[in-house]
Order: sequence, then C-alpha cells, then structure tokens
Amino acid sequence: MKYVNLINELGSIKTQSDYPLSHLNRYGTGGNADLVVFPNSEEELRYVIKLIKGKFPFFTIGGGSNLLISDKGYRGVIISTKNLTKIEIKGCLLTAECGAKLKSVVEEMQNNSFSGLEFSVGIPATVGGAVCMNAGCYGKSISDKVCYVTTDVSTYSTKECDFSYRKSRFLNSNEVIIKTCFNLRPEEYDYIEEKLALYKSFRKNPKGRNSGSVFKNDGYFAGKIIDEVGLKGFSVGKAKISTEHANFIIAEKGATSMDIYNLIKQIKERVYKLKQINLTEEIIYFGEF
Ligand SMILES: Cc1cc2nc3c(=O)[nH]c(=O)nc-3n(C[C@H](O)[C@H](O)[C@H](O)COP(=O)(O)OP(=O)(O)OC[C@H]3O[C@@H](n4cnc5c(N)ncnc54)[C@H](O)[C@@H]3O)c2cc1C
Repeated sequence: MKYVNLINELGSIKTQSDYPLSHLNRYGTGGNADLVVFPNSEEELRYVIKLIKGKFPFFTIGGGSNLLISDKGYRGVIISTKNLTKIEIKGCLLTAECGAKLKSVVEEMQNNSFSGLEFSVGIPATVGGAVCMNAGCYGKSISDKVCYVTTDVSTYSTKECDFSYRKSRFLNSNEVIIKTCFNLRPEEYDYIEEKLALYKSFRKNPKGRNSGSVFKNDGYFAGKIIDEVGLKGFSVGKAKISTEHANFIIAEKGATSMDIYNLIKQIKERVYKLKQINLTEEIIYFGEF
C-alpha cells in the first residue's frame, strides 16, 4: 500500500515489489526489498530519484559484487542500475552510464584503439560501483582514469571525488552516480591486446559464489594473515573461507548472509587474538545485522 502512489507515478518504469535481493548480489544471499526499480535511461533514473529522494529510504545496487545484504531484506526502495549501460567515446574521453560493466567499457575502449583501463578487465563491477568503491588492482585504481563524475546532485572533478583506497565521497552518501567520464590515450590495438592478456593472466578468482576480497589489504595481505592463523577452509554454516585464497568467502548452497557475517566476525576475532591486527572489511554490509 505504501508504494502504490509511487508505482503509479513511475508509470512505465519497471518495478518489482517484494523482490529477492539474493538476485542482485554475488553471494546470492539476503532477504527481500519492498520495491526494486529498474530505470532504463538517464532520464528515467533522474525521474526515479526525484520521486523517491527525501520520501523513501533508498539504496543503489550495481553489480552487487561487493555487498553483503541482510537476510531481513530492506524496507525501502532499491535502484538497480543494471539497464543503464550506454557508453560513448568523443576524442580521448569515454563516458559510461553507471550500470555499464567495466568489461564492456574495456571492450569499447579497445575497439576504438584507446588505452588506460586494461588493469580493470577482471573486476566484476559496474561503473557506478567501481567509482563509488574506487576499485582497483595491481597498484592501479579507477580514480587514476576518472575525468569527472556526474551524480543526481552535481558533476565532480576527480579531485572533488575525494578518492582514497577503496573509498570515494559517494560511499555511504545518498548521491547516485549517473555517469562517469574517463580520460584515455590513443594506442595500437595489439598493444592493448597484449596488456589485457597480461592482466588476465594475473587474475585467479576462486571458484564458487563470492564477493571478492572480504577485507582490505591495508598495508598487509589479509589473505596471508588469515591463512597464517590457520583459518583457510574454515566454515560457519554454509559460508566457507576459500581454500584457494583466504581473503575470499564462498557462499555454498543454502548459505545465509548471517553465516557469512558470523564467519567474518570469527575471522576478525581470531586474527586480533593471534596477530593484534584489526582487519577492516572491504565488503559493504547492507541492511540490519
Ligand atoms: C571475483 C571478484 C573479484 C573482485 N576483484 C576486485 C578487484 O580486483 N579490485 C576491486 O577493487 N574489487 C574487486 N572486487 C569487488 C567488486 O567487484 C568491486 O568493489 C566493485 O567496484 C563493485 O561494483 P558493483 O557494481 O558490483 O557495486 P555494488 O556491489 O553493487 O555496490 C558497491 C557500492 O557501490 C554503490 N553503488 C553502486 N552503484 C552506484 C551508483 N550508480 N551510484 C552510487 N553508488 C553506487 C553501492 O551502493 C555500494 O555502496 C571483486 C569482486 C569479485 C566478486
């Protein structure tokens, strides 16, 4: 009942009530959201935000590759950006809508003989999620290539985005990234191909449902530390520390978010007890735990 007027005002924009958030994140866990909205264009996204901001609690989900969503779900509105996938190139500037996958951005970059984002090829992220988290690997971050970011509130230069390790001004804010412009440089197709092959060869993501690194590598390698305290392969319920890489938690069939949450808690306690290191989460908790 609470959302009837909103759904009417949204008109032809796709919505789903009581939607399982397990469908929108990589662990495949979490409860239902009251309402999920799937805008198809920048105009629709701006209209959605105008209708809900200040009136309903809301949260934006991109690829759901860095989220642990509460089993209790969410009493509010989720904006799914998965249909906002437009990418444009003008000169050396590539502009991508927030829901475009990094993989597609890199493909478009290469097809137009531009270089700069090769390092990000294996990060399973949308542009919005990657910018919000300042995703990165191999000593490089998405912020290195950002020219400006447009949200529902304003357009920000790179400096104004306050990027730092796995952080930006957009994290925990209620601004929605609409699109991002990246600065690239012209390069030969074959050179780009070689760099992509090299970065792909570095990447060995563990098998099974996971949300990437659970903890930040903040001056140490969290996976190495977890391994050293003897937790590789340790489980709580159906959540298991990967035997391939101890900074990854695998959600086995039947896992709940609470299993993952309790496993994270136990890892932190043991690492602190044996190493006096406070591991900090890279994954984001969403909802009530
Ligand atoms: C196998 C695997 C490997 C990974 N490897 C890496 C890696 O090498 N490096 C790395 O940095 N990360 C890595 N990750 C983690 C993850 O891919 C990144 O954190 C990524 O940036 C998350 O993007 P997403 O679109 O999935 O965001 P989500 O998980 O959907 O969201 C993450 C955060 O971004 C916010 N957000 C999403 N879209 C928007 C928007 N349009 N506007 C405002 N806020 C938004 C969300 O609200 C949330 O706070 C890996 C994950 C997996 C599963």
